[in-house]
Amino acid sequence: MTDAERLTSGFVQALRESPFRIAPERSHELLATMGGEPWILEIINGPANFEAFPKRKEIEGTHAALLSLWAVTASVNILWRLARTAIASGQSQIAIEPGGPGSEIIELKNAALALIRSEAFSWSGAPAEPNTLAEPSSPDGLINNIFLAAASVVILHECGHIALGHQVHTTLMHQQEREADAWAVKWILEQAPGEPQREFRTLAICIAFIWIGLIDEVRQTTATHPPASQRFADAFDAFGDIANESTALEISHYALKAFFDPTTDLPQANSAKDGFIDG
Ligand SMILES: [Zn+2]
Repeated sequence: MTDAERLTSGFVQALRESPFRIAPERSHELLATMGGEPWILEIINGPANFEAFPKRKEIEGTHAALLSLWAVTASVNILWRLARTAIASGQSQIAIEPGGPGSEIIELKNAALALIRSEAFSWSGAPAEPNTLAEPSSPDGLINNIFLAAASVVILHECGHIALGHQVHTTLMHQQEREADAWAVKWILEQAPGEPQREFRTLAICIAFIWIGLIDEVRQTTATHPPASQRFADAFDAFGDIANESTALEISHYALKAFFDPTTDLPQANSAKDGFIDG
């Protein structure tokens, strides 16, 4: 058994429920979209990936996908906390370098990349691992909660492929990816009841796109710059007005930039809206 399977098997049941829980105000609508029965979600061994099979109305993911996404979640969670603290204390820069305060951010990112390169990667050298049995209110439990939310974004992206009747083999792959991104982001945010929900969901979306960016970084070796940040921006642009005032969105853009660019200037203090700087 791979470490990826051993460390993520405990998530599978919660994972199947996650697309209904990220936007609970639409859970009945999602079930109706699926025709009354949840579409099948299988987690198997294999390279880090999620895939939709529109004809069979099935979604397949892998343990390596889950563990690498969990590592990105744990990493971005630290990054968000550092960025918020830095902005609140008036700093204009955080240096994310080996040995510095943000070194776990890099170690978790590197562990995620190693797992994306090889699903048999041993997790024993990674700085943290998931505890699927953690109390919901504990630090590990909070990470689990954000991880499941981020996983639900990836799953809803795959649901978008199925709902939109996308083709598996087509010359329109890029267009289909953008359409599925936009479908998922709209599904998750459109009826969010308030700002705290929107902020949490935006963080989950940010994590999902960073994970997608790491997959691209490994698989598309000729690409010099991961397109995750652009896909994220496109998905929100396609969604329209509702996201424009989101401070979480602003920080997400920064997190995406920081994740792929180890030493990065924070946005100017006057661009961080007051509502966000409350700890
Ligand atoms: Zn896709």
